[in-house]
This record gives sequence, C-alpha cells and structure tokens, in this order.
Amino acid sequence: MGRLDGRVALVTGASRGIGYSLAKLLAADGAHVIAVARTVGGLEELDDEIKAAGGATTLVPLDLTDMAGIDRLGGAIAERWGRLDVLVANAGALGVLAPIGHIEAKTFEKTMTLNVTATWRLIRSTDPLLRRSDAGRAIILSSGAAHSAKAFWGLYAATKAAEEALARSWANETMNSPLRVNCVNPGATRTAMRALAMPGEDPASLPTPAEVAARILPLALPDCTETGRIFDVRENRFTTYRMPE
Ligand code: NDP
Repeated sequence: MGRLDGRVALVTGASRGIGYSLAKLLAADGAHVIAVARTVGGLEELDDEIKAAGGATTLVPLDLTDMAGIDRLGGAIAERWGRLDVLVANAGALGVLAPIGHIEAKTFEKTMTLNVTATWRLIRSTDPLLRRSDAGRAIILSSGAAHSAKAFWGLYAATKAAEEALARSWANETMNSPLRVNCVNPGATRTAMRALAMPGEDPASLPTPAEVAARILPLALPDCTETGRIFDVRENRFTTYRMPE
C-alpha cells in the first residue's frame, strides 16, 4: 500500500530534473500525478516510467507563463477530482547571471513571470482545491540564493525570495486548516539548471535529482505537520527560521 494511495498530486516542471524525480516518487507511493511542463517528450518519458511501475499520470503540456492556462488547469482539476492533495510548485528558470545593471528587461520580466507570477497564479488556482483535501500539502521549490545575495545572482535570488514570501504568507493564512505549506532549498543538484549556472563544475560531484527528491517526498505525506518552514535538503532538516507566533 502506498502512503499516497487515492491522492492527487500536481507537479510543475515534471519533464526533467528535480520535478521529474519527485513526480516518479509520488506516483510510486500511490498518487495520481498531474505532470506539467512544456516538453512533451520529457512528460511522455515520465509517463512511460510511471505506468511501467504500475502508477497513473495525467500529462499537461503547458507553458506556465500562460496565466489563463493555469486557471484552466485549476478548473479541470476541480471538474475531474473536486480537490487536490499535493501541489509541487517546482518549475523555474535561472534567468541570467549578470550584474543587476546589465540584465535585459525582457529576461528580467520573463524570469519574474515564470518563477513568481506563475507560482502565485498556481497558488491562487489550487488553494480552494487543496483546502478540500483532508491533508493538503504544498511544496514550493526555493533556493539558498533567496538568502545569500551573491553577486550576479540578483534576478534569480529576487524571484526565490518572492516565492518564499508568498509561501510563508500562505502558510500563515492556512495555519488553522489541514493544509501544510513549506518551501524547499534543494541545494546544488545535478540538473540542466545547475549546469547552466555552473558550467565548469563536474556534475558527478553533485547529488542526483532522485536523491534530492527522496528527501523532499516526506513534505507531501499526510503525516507532515510542519507549515511555513524552509526545508534544507542538504542538511535533511528544516532551517531554524520560524514564522512569528
Ligand atoms: P531544470 O532546469 O532541470 O528543470 C526545470 C523544469 O521547469 C523543467 O521541467 C522545465 O520543463 C520546467 N519549466 C521551465 N520553464 C517552464 C515554463 N515556461 N512552463 C512550464 N514549465 C517550465 O531545473 P531543476 O530541476 O534544477 O530545478 C527545479 C527547481 O529547483 C527550480 O525551481 C529551481 O529554482 C530549484 N533549485 C534548483 C537547484 C539546482 O541546483 N538544480 C538549486 C536550488 C534550487 P520544460 O522546459 O519542459 O517546460
């Protein structure tokens, strides 16, 4: 018996990287996975793997910068299942590593739209559905960059700080409901995004997305009691940051 049998989980950025691995683990634990990304090939590969292991998926090829598309997705979930049990807001982009004064407006706006506005829109679309679950769980992928303010990482850092702020406010709003909302700092992980950020690094020196996803999975389970926290994957524990009482 899976710990998520009969539950419905939505994972964005499920075509590769951390989202792909987490989608597989959620399905292996019994969840029906709604997998969202733009690349149909990646989604189909995920679908093949999950089905071969006896799991179930619904593939949603969608560009998350299409806000009306996110709204339609929420409507479709409401119609088919009437609720959502797990949201993993994982899709994201690095934008560009550059001095703040050199970032092109188009790049700034595109990265903000995907990482921040789409995350907000997803929260807005799924909040009523997650509240209908007896154990709604929301996981928002953040980054250590949200706090480190490293030179040239300003754009990405600003988006991740904004995502954390949204998630923590949402956790405060829902504290007295069964919904639990947490952020995750996955740490450096062997994915396409990390290779783009650190082209000189040996990917073999980094944890795989499967290893990282295994540590994130407990946040999706009904027995997760924490909310409004940031889970640090490398440390395998919640950070000391707590919301004010
Ligand atoms: P990848 O680049 O490997 O994967 C990103 C995923 O997001 C892909 O599935 C991609 O699918 C999807 N995505 C990107 N743009 C869009 C879009 N416009 N619409 C829909 N989906 C989109 O990233 P990671 O797995 O490395 O990162 C996952 C999360 O973890 C991100 O939020 C990232 O910020 C965070 N993170 C990662 C770290 C790392 O070291 N890897 C470290 C810290 C945080 P497609 O292109 O098919 O649309």
